[in-house]
Amino acid sequence: MGDYNAYIATDTIEGTDDGPLAGRTVAVKDNISTKDVQTTCGSAMLDGYVPPYDATVVERLKDAGATIPGKTNMDEFGMGTTTETSAYGAVENPVAEGHVPGGSSGGSAAVVAAGDADMALGSDTGGSIRCPAAFCGVVGIKPTYGLVSRYGLVAYANSLEQIGPIAPSVEDAAELLEVIAGPDERDGTTRDATDHGSDYDFAAAADGDVDGLSIGVPTELLDGADEAVVETFWDAIDDLQAQGASYHEVTLPSVEHAVEAYYVIAMSEASSNLARFDGVRYGKSGGEGNWNESFAQAREEGFGEEVKRRVLLGTYALSAGYHDKYYKKAQDARAWVKQDFDEALSDADVLASPTMPVPPMKRGESLDDPLTMYLADANTTPVNLANLPAISVPAGETDDGLPVGLQLVGPAFGEKTIIRAGSALA
Ligand code: GLN
Repeated sequence: MGDYNAYIATDTIEGTDDGPLAGRTVAVKDNISTKDVQTTCGSAMLDGYVPPYDATVVERLKDAGATIPGKTNMDEFGMGTTTETSAYGAVENPVAEGHVPGGSSGGSAAVVAAGDADMALGSDTGGSIRCPAAFCGVVGIKPTYGLVSRYGLVAYANSLEQIGPIAPSVEDAAELLEVIAGPDERDGTTRDATDHGSDYDFAAAADGDVDGLSIGVPTELLDGADEAVVETFWDAIDDLQAQGASYHEVTLPSVEHAVEAYYVIAMSEASSNLARFDGVRYGKSGGEGNWNESFAQAREEGFGEEVKRRVLLGTYALSAGYHDKYYKKAQDARAWVKQDFDEALSDADVLASPTMPVPPMKRGESLDDPLTMYLADANTTPVNLANLPAISVPAGETDDGLPVGLQLVGPAFGEKTIIRAGSALA
């Protein structure tokens, strides 16, 4: 195993003897519950917490014959873009020395890029599958909201997030998606793709056929992006064009508000979801004294700085007197973003952009500058606000040898379209 600090634990969980994933290893992000195996969310708060049940996706992996080689390191509770906020230390990028692997599923992308697992599961609230996939030169899919069960995923911002695959190729990612997708009575937000004009034959869609594909390029998602990233992006679009696809520019005027809206909604939901960590029910125990004192002590010691910042800001945004000013406004912006995507996709099969506007940052660079880190989510967060599916595939490298990802966004339950388009670049 490479020494990238990518695993928090390497307990092996065996699946059944046969099934579509028999003989293959699938690492699991440490915010996905595994029965009898510690699940920490990268937080000291959950050090030693052992769930009594499996997440639905873990049950499905076991039934499909996969072996889980361990639980992967991540930004604490999924809050970050670099996998440097984990209580278990930062993850290194195995393909770009001295740079971050992206986050928050940085451990999952790193083990796949380093060949320490065949595939991995991540979760994506505002880019956490696509960003590390892009920064580590592998493939990641953020499914349509409702395609994959969130039962057993420790919630960060539940209206935005989905579990999804990270893999070395589009075909492998599609195969893993096939195993984990589908309705689950324990998650009332799941939907059956067959009721929405699709089916579950995702791997078969990875046929590389882009003849006649219409690609919309939202100009706003190129504005402000790093020059080397934009250059690599256009090379990938040229490649798709040479294979029979066409492209035209489209506009998503609302996305200039997406990062703000995303962070208000994500922090608000986080402040509510993380209220359950009270030093009594899960993980870390509280201290002496009455309920308030013990609760405060557990949270003071158990949460890292980024988590505290978000719980405080989220609580503020939801409080009486400010709710309309912040939370409600963010919901209005979210509706507008959805509408813009619908419009752009009425006239294109997929929308393409760089996954991240910047190449992988140097390690340590963004920790003291949360605002710059939030702005790096400019191209990924709008997709979560709109609940749409997106894939990140390797587009090439900058002149300095840093990986660049291409993001393709499809209509709701349009996974097969983005898989087909993405596979043409492999
Ligand atoms: N970087 C974003 C955040 O910190 C996205 C994280 C995620 O998708 N879990 O919220």
